[in-house]
Amino acid sequence: MTDFIIIGAGLAGIVMAERIANVLGREVLIIEKRDHIGGNCYDFYDDKGILIHKYGPHIFHTDFDEVWTYLSQFTEWNDYQHRVLGYIDGYNVPIPFNLGSLHQLLPEDLAGKLESKLIKTFGYDVRIPILELRKLEDPELKYLADFIYDKVFLNYTKKQWGVEPEELDPSVTARVPVYISKDDRYFQNKYQGLPRNGYTQMFENMLSSENIQIKLSTNSKEVIKRDGDKFLIFDEEFKGKLIYTCKIDELFNYGFGELPYRSLDFEFENLNQEYYQEIGTVNYPNDYNFTRITEFKHLTGQKAESTTIAHEYPRKYVKETNIPYYPIPKKENRDIYYKYKMKGDELDNLILIGRLAEYQYYDMDEIVAEALKTFEEKIR
Ligand code: UDP
Repeated sequence: MTDFIIIGAGLAGIVMAERIANVLGREVLIIEKRDHIGGNCYDFYDDKGILIHKYGPHIFHTDFDEVWTYLSQFTEWNDYQHRVLGYIDGYNVPIPFNLGSLHQLLPEDLAGKLESKLIKTFGYDVRIPILELRKLEDPELKYLADFIYDKVFLNYTKKQWGVEPEELDPSVTARVPVYISKDDRYFQNKYQGLPRNGYTQMFENMLSSENIQIKLSTNSKEVIKRDGDKFLIFDEEFKGKLIYTCKIDELFNYGFGELPYRSLDFEFENLNQEYYQEIGTVNYPNDYNFTRITEFKHLTGQKAESTTIAHEYPRKYVKETNIPYYPIPKKENRDIYYKYKMKGDELDNLILIGRLAEYQYYDMDEIVAEALKTFEEKIR
């Protein structure tokens, strides 16, 4: 048996495997429940030949030089800059809500006045979380904050999470701040793009070492057994490092209760036309049961006669029935997570990493950064 076993072939597991195999020159086994690698970043060509993201749109963006340099060893990038429009009051306006959105939705004299006031109060090229903007006392800015809150955040968040924005950690809505600028990009990071030949191809390049073995379609629950502070893997005592990237509550048999998640359903549709919408993603905060429609060709830059779109429907998460896409950032949930984490910390040979194992609403670049750091600190 190898000295390193990784549970989960998502981004965290793949980075760890790549480092162990290529930097240490050691053997590593990855065990993956699904029949493919890549976790929720997995992409593939659908039966009409369109490259799509099976688990929803993934746009890579980062300010971390080391993360960009690291991944660029395994892929080139397509220079895509993500833009999102929100369908509000019959208009498609830039999201994050910016000065352009303001002028599209409000009468010109009022919009001009509010723009000057915003710039005077905060400066230009500044991002303000909506929950911060709502604390202002100035009546005109308060009016604007309430307007944006009602039109952009309130109903979208109720659909996406099943609760109101205030019931979640403020970091959730702060991901999409109000932007005092005319820059209409969704992300303003130093680096942005999609792997030129897709995420799955990039992952295959990362996993190409002969030191890496991957066992797909294998449920970790059937492979890992706990015996006190020991792990049995395939019924043998495992003395190496177990790198676990899946649900931490499941690893400890839900002993402290279930960690809640939010799930999604994607409805894919191929249309016999070149493009469906003008841009990669259109959000529908207030209308319909879905939150957004993504058209993959805008993201990937693929040229083809037909196009594939995905409607995104938020769902309640039910253990072992659907996919735990999002941890729900709230203090009471973090409290449960810490109980599991303390238990994990007692086990010397266990490393917990990734969105599910750390119960963190991580972006892709944060996972890569975390995995590179964990490799240096706990493995190398
Ligand atoms: N959000 C919103 N309206 C929007 C876009 C985002 O209310 O038009 C809120 C919503 O609560 C969402 C959060 O901001 O869950 C984070 O949005 P992001 O686009 O980062 O979510 P992700 O792409 O991770 O699903």
